[in-house]
This record gives sequence, C-alpha cells and structure tokens, in this order.
Amino acid sequence: MFIILLYCNNTNNVKITLFFIEGGTLMAYVIKDTCISCGACEPECPVDVISAGDSIYVIDEDGCIDCGACANVCPVDAPVPAE
Ligand code: SF4
Ligand code: SF4
Repeated sequence: MFIILLYCNNTNNVKITLFFIEGGTLMAYVIKDTCISCGACEPECPVDVISAGDSIYVIDEDGCIDCGACANVCPVDAPVPAE
C-alpha cells in the first residue's frame, strides 16, 4: 500500500512524501520512557501527532502513519513501533 502525503513544514516548504507500507498495515509508533524531551521529533512528524507530555513526549497513536521520521531524528532511539 502506498500513501502520498502533501504537507508544509515550519519553514513553509511544501513537501511531498511517498510512504510504502509493507503488507498494507500501519504500525503506530510509541515513545519509550528513555525520551529526554529534546523536542527534535515534534516538528518532523508530517501529521502532527507528537506533543510534549507531562514528563516525556508522546504520540497520538490513532493518527500515526508509521513513517519513522521521529525515530530517524531521535538521539536516544526512543520512538519505536508499538508492539
Ligand atoms: S512514525 Fe511518523 S507519523 Fe508516526 S509519530 Fe513518528 S513521525 Fe509522526
Ligand atoms: S527526539 Fe527522542 S528524545 Fe527528543 S523528544 Fe522526541 S522521542 Fe524524546
């Protein structure tokens, strides 16, 4: 299954991202408690489902499209696919 996503980031550049989802199933990401709340992942999320929680950043799993962008920028590998 392919997902084509058109979105603007914080610098107003339009980005077109093509996602290939193996097997047609989306696997939402979650953020482990090893998160150091650096905030690097939040602006990278193309669907804006990452926010600062009480002690660590959190992902609204219902909206996550399984792109992995958050995991790619995290310095401590805290975002991982939900089990
Ligand atoms: S995997 Fe992609 S869509 Fe899901 S929270 Fe991370 S950046 Fe956002
Ligand atoms: S990039 Fe990693 S450490 Fe930083 S807020 Fe996101 S999950 Fe937490």
